[in-house]
Amino acid sequence: MSGPGAAAAAVGLRLTVVGCSGSYPGPDSAASCYLVEAPDGQGGTTRVVLDLGSGSIGPLQLHLDPRDLDAVLLSHLHADHCLDLMGLYVMQRHHPDGPTGRRVPVWGPAATAARLARGYDLTEPDAMSAELDVQQWQAGQAVTVGSLQVTPFEVRHPVEAYAVRVVWTDPSGVEHVLVYSGDTDTCDGLDQAAAGADLLLCEAAFVEGRDEARGIHLTGRRAGEVAVRAGVGRLLLTHVPAWNPPGAAETEAREVFTGPLTAAAPGQVHQVDAPGDHAPLPARPAGPGNRA
Ligand SMILES: [Zn+2]
Ligand SMILES: [Zn+2]
Repeated sequence: MSGPGAAAAAVGLRLTVVGCSGSYPGPDSAASCYLVEAPDGQGGTTRVVLDLGSGSIGPLQLHLDPRDLDAVLLSHLHADHCLDLMGLYVMQRHHPDGPTGRRVPVWGPAATAARLARGYDLTEPDAMSAELDVQQWQAGQAVTVGSLQVTPFEVRHPVEAYAVRVVWTDPSGVEHVLVYSGDTDTCDGLDQAAAGADLLLCEAAFVEGRDEARGIHLTGRRAGEVAVRAGVGRLLLTHVPAWNPPGAAETEAREVFTGPLTAAAPGQVHQVDAPGDHAPLPARPAGPGNRA
């Protein structure tokens, strides 16, 4: 298939932020969607997305034809993480070029097929089975997608939810590890998933002193604490809702995590296998409209 995805094979393990707004799309970002690419060992590229949340299939097309994805890996079934599978379903079913002849694999929680059908107002739970090959995560059981080993870890959110550990082994046998928290509060599953990761892509939706509820989200501080406990190389904060004060998550996380730390932004590219690819951002200057 032609399109932006037909570019040269990926070099190393690369993460591109497609959308990173927490809970709903913001004015300058779609909701959660992260493109992960790595050489497939045969001259091509393995391409998956972590989540396909509201608004994200638009900017995803800047990077590839979504029908070419090797898999969609869902952390959970909240709208801001899965609902743009509706767009992929439409492309698969109704594209004027005709069917591609392959179903796009979708990994997710137990109720994924029925949830997606409901999202499009279809009544049969397997109504999208000609377009999407939906499979269920089993906590702790790795699945192989192209050159990637992907392991879900159950985490702490009001619905069935997973952190996802993605491992790519380079030609010299060295493993490179990207971990995505999904939505979660502090829990053992997240610590286990994140252990020793080169890059931890971690949600920080809540704000210390404002959001007292537990069992739903991390604050920037709690994300930083996970990064410290897990001994990760770099921390990339994400899933910050547009209603949060700018910079608050980074400020909180820096109080506990002294390693490289960045806030996710749409279009950002992180080379997971290149240490120090992203140095810590300089402190934000104080000023009107820029209070952390
Ligand atoms: Zn969310
Ligand atoms: Zn959620």
